[in-house]
Amino acid sequence: MRVFDKNSNIFRLLSESILQGILVVNDQQEIVASNQRSEELFGYAKDELLGQKLAILIPNAQRGKHKKLAESVYSEDIGVRKMKGRNLSGLHKNGSQIPLQVGLSPFSLYGNRYVLTLIEDLSKIKEKDNQIYELNTQLEKKIRLRTQELRDTVAKLKREVKRRKEAEDKIKDALQRERELNDLKTKFLSMVSHEFKTPLSGILTAATLVGKYNTENQQEKREKHLKTIIAEVRRLNAILTDFLSIERLEQGKEVYRLADFSLSKVVNEVIYDANMILKDGQKINYPQNIDDIIINQDERIVALALTNLLHNAIKYSREDTEIDFRVDMTKNKITFHIIDQGIGIPQGDQKHIFDRYFRAENVLLTQGTGIGLNIVKAHVENLGGHISFKSKEDHGSVFSIELPLTKK
Ligand code: ADP
Repeated sequence: MRVFDKNSNIFRLLSESILQGILVVNDQQEIVASNQRSEELFGYAKDELLGQKLAILIPNAQRGKHKKLAESVYSEDIGVRKMKGRNLSGLHKNGSQIPLQVGLSPFSLYGNRYVLTLIEDLSKIKEKDNQIYELNTQLEKKIRLRTQELRDTVAKLKREVKRRKEAEDKIKDALQRERELNDLKTKFLSMVSHEFKTPLSGILTAATLVGKYNTENQQEKREKHLKTIIAEVRRLNAILTDFLSIERLEQGKEVYRLADFSLSKVVNEVIYDANMILKDGQKINYPQNIDDIIINQDERIVALALTNLLHNAIKYSREDTEIDFRVDMTKNKITFHIIDQGIGIPQGDQKHIFDRYFRAENVLLTQGTGIGLNIVKAHVENLGGHISFKSKEDHGSVFSIELPLTKK
């Protein structure tokens, strides 16, 4: 023990100039020497630790572990000096625990075995660690928050961009519609003035001539001109009917009436009317074996659609050509085909053929409004049906209308 006496200059010199705490413990686990730093570290007065059991500096929970450690240290070959790094806690006099790093170095002196313990206080480092950990946690939290805010902002911006794009599209659509409407209006006005002017001047001429033929033997000529007047008035009437039809369709005011009717009656009426306007040498072939067929559909619309298609077939075919009118029926639907050998529709115009006021480039010298097919399509579709066509310029066209038959 005396070798570690505090009065020993060498020990004091060595131990007091070192920043770590030093404890020397004998094989009885008693402290035989300590420096000022270890006393400060554990909260003891000068020399207060001397002769104490080392256990007073070890927290209860670690005593078992420490015992094993001490046994292993003493059992090591004494000749070999070894430092062992350990992270553990020490027990302060006031009961608090101090994080420590400890280096153990067993040695032998005058036949006695000791362990020199170098003790480093890790409180500051632990505190810094904790601070860093705390700062990191706060930083991560902030980053998470900012990232979330950024995500929210990006999402908000995306929504805003989408909203603006939609608004822009809407405005573009409205503008486009406005342009189309204007276009239609112009087309409509030029078409109306043209379509009304021709029959009206025809009527005027015929009426003037009728007035001139006043002798009895000119009756035949008078009748011819009166017929012209009647035909032109009919045409004007048909155009006006189409216009009114458009208005009703657009305002959704069209009323459909499904009822049973005789197919042959309607076909005969339609053919009768069409025959009146046939060109020289034109002929319509139509089914003769449909007398007993009763169908349930809107009779007025069926007649209107067939009349329209037949009149077009006549109008857009030359003299001496034939027009075939066919009817196919199944349990659930009826299909009409109107086949002509006429001028056909140029390929490039076909996609517009059902557009209102549209007229193909090869018919511009023939009278027409470009309304008929548009109206027929709307009616047929309103009734759950379908209209289609196939056409080749200078060869002819086939227009087909399919209508559902819900009731026998
Ligand atoms: P319109 O005959 O009064 O011009 P429609 O709406 O009935 O109007 O027809 C639109 C256009 O479709 C016609 O102008 C014409 O170019 C084309 N078309 C319709 N039917 C035929 C047909 N049978 N043969 C050739 N072209 C046709």
